[in-house]
Amino acid sequence: MKEQTAVAVICDKPVRYRVRRSDRARRLSLQVSPRKGLEVVLPRRWSLAELERALREHALWIDEQVERFDVRQGPRSPELSTGSRVLVLGRPRTLLVEGAEPGRRRGRVVAENDRLRVQLTPDDLLDPRPLLERWLRRLARRHLEARVCELAATHGLAPSRIIIGERTSRWGSCSHKGNLSFCYRLVMAPPAVIDAVVCHELCHLRHLNHGPGFRKLLTEVCPEHDESMSWLRDHHDDLQI
Ligand SMILES: [Zn+2]
Repeated sequence: MKEQTAVAVICDKPVRYRVRRSDRARRLSLQVSPRKGLEVVLPRRWSLAELERALREHALWIDEQVERFDVRQGPRSPELSTGSRVLVLGRPRTLLVEGAEPGRRRGRVVAENDRLRVQLTPDDLLDPRPLLERWLRRLARRHLEARVCELAATHGLAPSRIIIGERTSRWGSCSHKGNLSFCYRLVMAPPAVIDAVVCHELCHLRHLNHGPGFRKLLTEVCPEHDESMSWLRDHHDDLQI
């Protein structure tokens, strides 16, 4: 069975979907689910014109469903619920999703041994993701600020500002003004890996390139930098929520 992803314009908005060519299917089928997003199964010999016709014909229904499951951009990452594992500073923690005590207006996350208790209010609609993200962002700020200060002082480097944000393609960056930015999800990695990213960006305060001068300084400051970078590449999918 062949499959491919594509984007269609449905009700004037782009929707990412997956098409599967099936040898066995007798007719075209459309499905929308949180795990797969919009999926179209097309019998093997059917033309793409049939696919386009089906998308047009069911546009309103598709629009409603992708909105409902929040999958306009494609499927979401795996469901987060009780029993899911989340890495925090490289250590796996098991989620326990529960209701907040009555009277609490805001949900919260409590770290407890190897568990993360996510206490939701009725407004959180059973989705632990926003609370968990807020908690990871705060932890990232605390941890990264402390590590940047310490490592900068040790190596005589002076960043201007530390920005914690969401970077999809890079874990850290350094601007020509000396501002260091980090993706908050970096705090899911082991401390040594976080330090390597911090050292990399600190070294850019002296060399805003990856030339020999930068490499020499980086090797002095963080000899295990390259191993840490390959850890990040190998665990890219584990550092998502
Ligand atoms: Zn760099």
